[in-house]
This record gives sequence, C-alpha cells and structure tokens, in this order.
Amino acid sequence: MNATKQYDLTIIVPVYNEEDNIYSLEKALGEYLPKAKVSSAILFVNDGSKDASLNRIVEICGRNEHFFFVNLAQNRGLSGAIKAGIDTIQSQYTGYIDADLQTAPEDFNLLLEHIDEHEMVTGIRVGRKDSFVKNMSSKIANGFRRSMTHDGMLDTGCPLKIIRSDYAKKVPFFMGMHRFLPALVQMLEGKVKQVPVRHFPRVAGQSKFHVFNRLVGPLMDCFAYRWMRKRYINYRIDQTNV
Ligand code: UDP
Ligand code: MG
Repeated sequence: MNATKQYDLTIIVPVYNEEDNIYSLEKALGEYLPKAKVSSAILFVNDGSKDASLNRIVEICGRNEHFFFVNLAQNRGLSGAIKAGIDTIQSQYTGYIDADLQTAPEDFNLLLEHIDEHEMVTGIRVGRKDSFVKNMSSKIANGFRRSMTHDGMLDTGCPLKIIRSDYAKKVPFFMGMHRFLPALVQMLEGKVKQVPVRHFPRVAGQSKFHVFNRLVGPLMDCFAYRWMRKRYINYRIDQTNV
C-alpha cells in the first residue's frame, strides 16, 4: 500500500543539492501540517543530489510521521522530479513547493480554499524577492509565454501549486514542462485559479537556474506546447458496458 493514499493532499518537494535547507524544511513543513486545512503529507523527491541532501531527508523522514521520500537514481531536472512525485502520489490532491522555501507552506491554505471548484490552484508571487536580473528574465519569459499560450497566467512558475491528482497524472511531461503546468491543465480542459501568495528570498543553497536556461529553452518549449494543444485528444465517454 502506498502511504500517501491515507491523505487528502501530498506535497511534493523537489530537492537537488539543498543540504542547507533540509532542516529548515523539516521545521517549516512540520509546523504547517497540523495547521493544514486538509490531511496532508510531504513527499521529498531527491533529484540525484550530490551533497548530503539524501542523508538528511532520510534522517528527517525517520522522525516525522507524515514525511516520505523517493530518491531518483540520477538527476532528471525539476520537471523530472515533479513527474516522479506525481507518479508516486495516491492522494486526491498533489501539492508542490520548492526546497528553498521562497514561498510559505501556510499559503497552501489560501490555495486550498479554491480547490473544490478548480482543477488547479496556483500562486502569484507578490513582491518578488529575487535579483533584478532574475525578476526581469522571468517577466520577459512570462510575457512571451503568455502571448504564445494564451493561458492568462501571471506567474506560471510559482513554486506553490495544488493540482487534482487525476489531472496531474494526465499531464504530458517533458523536460521544462514544469513551467507550463497551468497551461497543460487548461489543455486538459481543467480550470485554473490564481491566488496571490507571499515570496521570500532564498536564504540557503544556490539557485539552479540562470538567464540562459530560464529564457532560451522555455521560449522554444512554447512552440511544443502550441503543437500539443492543437493535437491533444480530449474525450468523454458517453456510454459503455465494460
Ligand atoms: N531542482 C531539482 N532538480 C534540478 C534543479 C532544481 O529538483 O535539476 C529543485 C531545487 O532543489 C528547488 C527547485 O527545483 O527545490 C527550484 O530550483 P531553484 O530554487 O534553484 O530555482 P529558482 O527558484 O532559482 O528558479
Ligand atoms: Mg528558488
């Protein structure tokens, strides 16, 4: 039996070389769980970290009842880590937060207020605490992406999301697709709600993304998304006797 089945929500935390954030995660997530609006568990996905992240994850999962982990054999990138998490989860809802805690677990409660009427609820980072260059590249990328996808998303990459797990499991996943999650849920005819959330600076460890891997690849992926959306097969079964 998969332990996540006993919970309403399982929150994926992708981890790549985040050893200095693991104990802060233990504290922040451990404090959130009793306050969560629905019964919730944590699923750390260690994405082939080369530092002490895995040892520390195993350590904190040993002493926290609702903490679980999967360890990937190799680094597969953020989309790969999220996909591995989604494939593992058996709770009704899938959550996502980054390991650097630039968004607050408590704000999952704001998202949860809307999940009954939507297939995805995603944050909009208010007052972003990133560097000028990072904010600018993110703004440009977001603007171009929005004009290509027409998804209406102001902050597609916000690392605070809740998705109905049946929709999450249907999302076609490729490298870089974590930036298109709201658009992909829309492609599946799911409704997406955006909610303002708080944002904090990264206080430990290092960002894995820079201007080049944030801008060029993702712009190309817009064309892939448009092709997929045009070709995607949505169907509803009217009658069957299986
Ligand atoms: N991450 C991952 N695999 C990777 C790169 C990043 O799982 O190959 C995780 C990372 O540990 C963090 C999240 O993805 O939890 C977002 O990464 P980061 O904070 O570096 O991105 P930024 O916020 O700077 O865009
Ligand atoms: Mg970050």
